[in-house]
Amino acid sequence: MQASGAKVGVLALQGSTRLHVLALAELGAEPVEVRRPVDLAGVDALIVPGGESTTLALLVDSSGLRPALEDRLAEGLPVLGTCAGMILCATEVLDGRADQAGLGAVDIDVRRNAFGRQRDSFEADLDIEGMPGGRFPAVFIRAPVVTRAGPDVEVLARLAEGPVLCRSGAVMVAAFHPELGGDLRLHQSFLERI
Ligand code: GLN
Repeated sequence: MQASGAKVGVLALQGSTRLHVLALAELGAEPVEVRRPVDLAGVDALIVPGGESTTLALLVDSSGLRPALEDRLAEGLPVLGTCAGMILCATEVLDGRADQAGLGAVDIDVRRNAFGRQRDSFEADLDIEGMPGGRFPAVFIRAPVVTRAGPDVEVLARLAEGPVLCRSGAVMVAAFHPELGGDLRLHQSFLERI
């Protein structure tokens, strides 16, 4: 499918949804804010944004979205998970809440807040495997890091602490906020694979 015209959901329960919606619209996709199971029905792909993963996990349950999400993921729905969204997509979460159930959309383990607290937020120019146009400006805010990547997971970028961008099939997860650096190449490459 062409990126242009693809209906791309943005999980809009909590966190940084607005700039993802704008990025999608700018790239010619049709953004759909997802709050209820019915919103997921017609989407071709989904962005799970940053925010607070403990809260997101609770809201995924209270909104009734978890079973619908699990069904779509099992069918191979393309997903871009960023920061808290990466944590929600992971298999195992270190330093999370005991009841923080991930979606297991990608075979990785992550450590929350691996780079320190809010004031330790930083920007890094990442070398991303296969991305034309030079380094990517990546904004890290209380970001997680990948502590284990399964055999089918490609690591596309890393920092000294570990992998920060991974892909497995149709699922891409970033420890950073690609919507904040003013560079839409990561969204573009996600849309190209839908
Ligand atoms: N530290 C947050 C969490 O654990 C993620 C922060 C973010 O999404 N910017 O959920």
